[in-house]
Amino acid sequence: MGKIQLMPDQLANKIAAGEVVERPASVIKELVENSIDAGSSWIKIDLMEAGLQKIQIIDDGEGMTEEDCEHAFFRHATSKIRDENDLFHVRTLGFRGEALASIAAVSRLAIQSSVGQVAGTRLELEGGKLLQRGKSDARKGTEITVEELFFNTPARLKYMKTIHTELGHITDILNRMALSHPEVKFDCSHNGKRLFQTSGRGDLLQVIAQIYGMGVARKMIPIKAESLDFTIEGYIAKPEVTRASRNYMSTVINGRYIRNITLNKAIMKGYHTLLPIGRNPLVVLNIEMDPILVDVNVHPAKLEVRFSKEKELFDTIEQSIKKELRKESLIPEAPSRKSKKQKLHSTQKSFDFMEDRKAETKKEDAHLEHKNSFEQFVTSLQTDNGNKEENFEYQKRQDEAVREMAAEPLVGKTDHNESQEKEDRQETNNGNGNRVPVLYPIGQLHGTYILAQNENGLYIVDQHAAQERIKYEFFRDKLGETTNEVQELLVPMTFDFSKKEALRIEEHLEELKKVGIFFEPFGDTSFIIRNHPSWFPEGQEEAVIDDMVEQIMHENKIDIKKIREEAAILMSCKRSIKANHYLNHEDMKHLLDDLRRSTDPFTCPHGRPIIVHFSDYDMEKMFKRVM
Ligand code: ADP
Ligand code: MG
Repeated sequence: MGKIQLMPDQLANKIAAGEVVERPASVIKELVENSIDAGSSWIKIDLMEAGLQKIQIIDDGEGMTEEDCEHAFFRHATSKIRDENDLFHVRTLGFRGEALASIAAVSRLAIQSSVGQVAGTRLELEGGKLLQRGKSDARKGTEITVEELFFNTPARLKYMKTIHTELGHITDILNRMALSHPEVKFDCSHNGKRLFQTSGRGDLLQVIAQIYGMGVARKMIPIKAESLDFTIEGYIAKPEVTRASRNYMSTVINGRYIRNITLNKAIMKGYHTLLPIGRNPLVVLNIEMDPILVDVNVHPAKLEVRFSKEKELFDTIEQSIKKELRKESLIPEAPSRKSKKQKLHSTQKSFDFMEDRKAETKKEDAHLEHKNSFEQFVTSLQTDNGNKEENFEYQKRQDEAVREMAAEPLVGKTDHNESQEKEDRQETNNGNGNRVPVLYPIGQLHGTYILAQNENGLYIVDQHAAQERIKYEFFRDKLGETTNEVQELLVPMTFDFSKKEALRIEEHLEELKKVGIFFEPFGDTSFIIRNHPSWFPEGQEEAVIDDMVEQIMHENKIDIKKIREEAAILMSCKRSIKANHYLNHEDMKHLLDDLRRSTDPFTCPHGRPIIVHFSDYDMEKMFKRVM
């Protein structure tokens, strides 16, 4: 007998289990995906000890007949695809037909399933072996209980991290699934305590509120876009809501939550200079496309996919986010100083607001309770499992500011000239759409901040950040103009390269000419240039050229936009008034007016905020004029 033999199924399943069933979170993901594929409108998830002791999933989906129920546990048994061709048109979340077999192979599993009306089937399996067959009730749907996961694969069990870490993975997956399917009601508990619950009303913003909290939901901007091949719908957070982790960017392709670096990059590019460096936005995008355009068959857990029109998708995402953010007023509110009790109260109010807006019935008391316990749970997770958010002050304040969404009362008119104000407002309406209101300088604080007012309260403006923004846009526009103006050099600049680099440059001489770099060979591996485009920032000419050469070396092309962009940021920062610089009333007025006219008046090019707003109402609360 030869050495090579076919593995018995049970052994093969254990190996496959290693791929799909890495940890409790992956089991839960597979089972919930099955419930969604079965058309469920309600999915209940009960866990004990982060799923290691017990995972129970109950759904109201289509259920299975007795025969199907048994077949479901065969390896590669699926009702979702029939032939190769179907693989290119997958609409369901599953299609490999290996999850149930793999999960059953490494646990004790019981399933009850019925297609409704007639009695259902009950099966009990251990390590993939069928132990018992019986009848169940006729409730339409499926109930699967997985106990003692990895009981027969001790090596795998050893790799399990703490309950907290595993639970972190689980909530991450469940959050994304709930966000991907607002039409499904999720009810999740752990050790008898509810983690979260969604309403299943199909309202994504409501799910965002139920998962990330009302404070975040109120700072989300709806987004909708369409290109030839894609439609995008979802919510993007105002730039003041940021996270240290990239995990809060959720991209959903045809109902499937996926991880994709390129899509995340497109989102980041959409926000561009609006985010502080190192911070990430909170975004949920539902992207619909013809399944033929996306290959879902590239990753065992189907988390990664491949797109055939990635560039178009990238541009659509970037552009639509840019466009939405341009429409918004993005001045962050000053921190709220509410007590815990008041906070709860205002959360309740905001729920009411959402409900009013949707004109739906109110059953939110219960939700509120769950949401709060969930938030507490998440906070405890974040502090406990070392997944520490970099909690810098600004972020913390913004997040904790659970405030009334209803417009703040406009109490206490200030004393500036009203007709002038009207004029100014008209001017703003013709400008960038009133994103920053007209502000009247009161004075300067420590030569660094401008204090300003209007009928909506007090505004504090960081003068350096404001000027950086103004200058940045000025230089960016100037650099963007395609003039052929050149700066002649009295003494040519010499550049020395290695042999390899010199060859590379020779290949790209034409391209370099297009961006205004005329390299003349000067000896074996050196070049000179006699002039350069006049937009090069003074004193930085060599650095800009080096940048271009570097791009040629690494990317084989020059991204002139990126270089101009970097140059603009550099110049704006260098030439802006610094802190500790006295400004008179006129200077301040000019600066505020210029700021109002800029395209993105809310953050400096490095993403730091420029303006903070204290409404009159905030002030009255601080001084306890109102309670
Ligand atoms: P796949 O989802 O890739 O088809 P699975 O092993 O996850 O493979 O499931 C096998 C089959 O069992 C599915 O194709 C489906 O027909 C059936 N099935 C699994 N879970 C459910 C469920 N909750 N409700 C109805 N049918 C289910
Ligand atoms: Mg499946």
